[in-house]
Amino acid sequence: MATATEKRRKRRPVTDEMKAQSQASRAAANDALHNYAVLCLSDPAELEEFRSIAASIGWKFDPASDDGGYSLQNAALLAAQRRPLVHCGGFDYWLEQGRCVAEGEKALGTFRHIGRKQTEEQKAEEKKLAEEGWQSSKRGPRYYVKRGTWDVTQTRPIVKCPRCGTTPTGPEDRTTLCPPDCAVFAPRPGGKPPRELVLELMQAQLKDADEEHGPQQ
Ligand SMILES: [Zn+2]
Repeated sequence: MATATEKRRKRRPVTDEMKAQSQASRAAANDALHNYAVLCLSDPAELEEFRSIAASIGWKFDPASDDGGYSLQNAALLAAQRRPLVHCGGFDYWLEQGRCVAEGEKALGTFRHIGRKQTEEQKAEEKKLAEEGWQSSKRGPRYYVKRGTWDVTQTRPIVKCPRCGTTPTGPEDRTTLCPPDCAVFAPRPGGKPPRELVLELMQAQLKDADEEHGPQQ
């Protein structure tokens, strides 16, 4: 049987079915964002919880920067799928941390950019050219939804947990989890995003607020 890595490396042609699937997952992500934005805008406690989640999982002001952390929109998309969140990472990240995804846990989706990242200047130039009629502003989607993120609460130790000492009984043991009070589950210190910025972000996720739904990057 092919390993996950071998499967991932195999290049497949893009079929109409794959395109439809990709479109469906973007639509589902936008729906989830809309619903979560409605919740946060109507309930100040939810909005505050989102600010705490963003602080704990790490957020960045500029979605296009290579800094660590999630864009605020991706932080909101993650929170729309699961709450609370403490610390998120991909499959390989968790392996490096000596943890793996616990049995039955579903991956969370984030928006990923297709192709090269554009700078603000390039975006402005493209918009200007489109307005002047030099090129179409209707380009295909520049992003897709990748399901490959898990919160630490969805993971378990591979060997002895250095924080609480929980040890699986053997390599076949896939059900031994850290107790809820293990330090690995403690929220991480970090700066909360400004309230005004979060309000602006949530407003922008409302479906009737803006025709264009995509990542800010
Ligand atoms: Zn532990």
